[in-house]
Amino acid sequence: MRKINFSAGPSTLPYEVVKQMADAVLDFEGTGTSISEISHRSKEFMNVLSEAKSLVKELLNVPDGYSILFLQGGASMEFLRIPMNLLTKDGYGAYLDTGTWANKAFKEAKGIGNAVCVASSKEDNYTYIPADYTVPADADYFHCTSNNTIFGTQIKHFPKSPVPMVCDMSSDIFSRTIDVSQFDLIYAGAQKNVGPAGAVLVIIKDEILGKSGRYIPSMLDYQIAIKNDSMYNTPCTMAIYMAMLNLRYLKNRGGVAAAEKYNEEKAAMLYDEIERNPLFKAVAKKEDRSNMNVTFVLNDPEKYTDRFAELCSKAGIRDIKGHRSVGGYRASIYNAMTKENIQVLIDVMQQLAQEK
Ligand SMILES: *Cc1c(COP(=O)(O)O)cnc(C)c1O
Repeated sequence: MRKINFSAGPSTLPYEVVKQMADAVLDFEGTGTSISEISHRSKEFMNVLSEAKSLVKELLNVPDGYSILFLQGGASMEFLRIPMNLLTKDGYGAYLDTGTWANKAFKEAKGIGNAVCVASSKEDNYTYIPADYTVPADADYFHCTSNNTIFGTQIKHFPKSPVPMVCDMSSDIFSRTIDVSQFDLIYAGAQKNVGPAGAVLVIIKDEILGKSGRYIPSMLDYQIAIKNDSMYNTPCTMAIYMAMLNLRYLKNRGGVAAAEKYNEEKAAMLYDEIERNPLFKAVAKKEDRSNMNVTFVLNDPEKYTDRFAELCSKAGIRDIKGHRSVGGYRASIYNAMTKENIQVLIDVMQQLAQEK
C-alpha cells in the first residue's frame, strides 16, 4: 500500500510521475537505454533539459532576460554561490532571518564577505515573519526565504527592494503564483515541489551577474553555468528528468494557478481542524502560517503522543513528526498531497479527540 507521506523533503510526488519515472529507469522513452545510462550530451537528454526549462519559464511566467539552471549541491550550495557571485569587496548582503535555512544562508554570506541581518524572529523561535524593516538601498542584494519549511511560516507579501532581491523558494515554488520580475534570483532545492533530491533550480536575472569583482571558482560561477547551459559538468540527469515529468504533470493539471487554489483549500481543511480540535494547537502565527508545512502540537503530549502515533501508523500516515527544533507535528502538504489524504489525517485527529 502506498503510504500517506507527510515528509518535508524528499517528499511525496504524484504517483503517475513516479510510475513514469519507473518506466524510464527500465527504458527511457524507447531509446533502449535507461534514463540512468543515457549521455547528458545525447539529443534525447538535451530535449529533456530544454523541455524542463521551458516548463519552468511557462509555469512561472519567467520574463526574458532571466536564465534557468538546474545545478547540484542543493539549496545549501546556493547559500554559498549567491554571496560568491553577488557580494562586492566592500559591499554587504542584507538578510531576513526567518528560520533555520534563512539563518544558514546568512552564515555562509558572512563567511565570504559582509552580511547584515535586517530583521529576525529568532527570539520567538521563528513563529512569525518580521514585518518592521526596510531593505537598505546600499546593500549588494537582499535575501529572503519565502517559506520556512521547519517552522511553518510563509511570506505572504514580499517587500519592495531597491536592490536585487534573492529568494530561497525551496519549499513553495510552483505552489502559488509569484511575480518573477519582482525577484532577481530565485532558487529551490528540487526535493519539495519540483522533483526528487539532487537538483537545485535557479532562475537568475542575467544583468545582476559579473559585478562582484572577485574570483569565483568555476563550479560556483553562475555565468559559467549559464554559458554551458547547466552542463559545465555532468548534470543530475535522473533528477532533471523526473522534475520535467512533474512539471509536465503540473501543467496538464492547470498549472500554478490551479495548484494554488487547491493548496489553499487543502491548508484550510487542516488548519480548521487544528483550531476546532481541543487536543491540538497550531505553532505559527495565523497571518504568517504556511500553506505548505503545517506545524502543530498536542496540548497534552504526555497523554496523547503514543495513541496519536498509533492511529497515524494504522491509517498509513508516515513522517509527520515535527522538526526537533519545533517538536510536535509537521504535515508537509506540497502540491502532490491530495485532499483525500489530508482528510485521512483529519479523521485520525477527530478519532483521537473522540476517544478522550
Ligand atoms: C529544504 C530546504 C533547504 C535545504 O535544501 P538542500 O537541498 O538540502 O540543501 C533550504 N532552504 C529551504 C527553505 C528548504 O526548505
